[in-house]
Amino acid sequence: MTKRIPFIAGNWKMNLDHQQGIALVQKLDWTLKDAAHNYADAEVAVFPGFTSLRSIQTLIDADGLEIKLGAQDISAYDSGAYTGEVSGQALKKLAIDYVLIGHSERRQYHNETDEVVQAKVAAAFRHNLVPVICVGETLEELEAEGAAAVPVRQTLAALAGHDALGEFVIAYEPVWAIGTGQIATPEQAASVAKKIRDAIATEFSEDVANKTRILYGGSVKAANVAGFLRSPEVDGVLVGGASLDAVEFSGIARFQKHLDL
Ligand code: PEP
Repeated sequence: MTKRIPFIAGNWKMNLDHQQGIALVQKLDWTLKDAAHNYADAEVAVFPGFTSLRSIQTLIDADGLEIKLGAQDISAYDSGAYTGEVSGQALKKLAIDYVLIGHSERRQYHNETDEVVQAKVAAAFRHNLVPVICVGETLEELEAEGAAAVPVRQTLAALAGHDALGEFVIAYEPVWAIGTGQIATPEQAASVAKKIRDAIATEFSEDVANKTRILYGGSVKAANVAGFLRSPEVDGVLVGGASLDAVEFSGIARFQKHLDL
């Protein structure tokens, strides 16, 4: 069975300018170095806003940091008259590895449908960027259909119709748990992650399912991360608010230290 390296991803959302972003990444790097963090045990990535990407890429490059870089969105188009959009090609040129697609805030405030998400995943694959595809149910959907139905449906819609699947990550983020302090139970996160993985195996192959990392996201903190990552079904976390604090985020990245507690 493929070994899946845990993935700790920090979504800064619309916070921090590029100077604050540089300071945060420097502090995160020192904190992790002080704690002798081994990146082979847990990969760490930050997802700053677009205007910070170039500065942070320069820092990562110049100082040889092992922290990875992701963008919060990608255009479905490669170039042309799409004012305000950022292409996969431009992101790839900044040595970006990952791109968030279909975050619930984009689905909710920018009307991103499953079709838009699918087109953005296609753009990420075209430019060799790894999409981190966000899926999750609202409270109403949870009550009407249970926890797994919407995330599984959104996952399959995002992955449908591609000539070939590149590497991708799924982030299961119940909408009712994002930024609310209300968290899913570790059992719920593991159960939904398993159903997503089973659906990927059925639709594509066991091999694709085995190598796909499935994250949990929604009010994750250093104090609750271990509960989620104790399950072999959950391969990491997507963190919003707590990723803006270098010490807290490094505590999350070092979740293995508190697995036995
Ligand atoms: C997110 O924005 O993806 C998220 C999980 O936010 P928070 O950790 O703040 O709930």
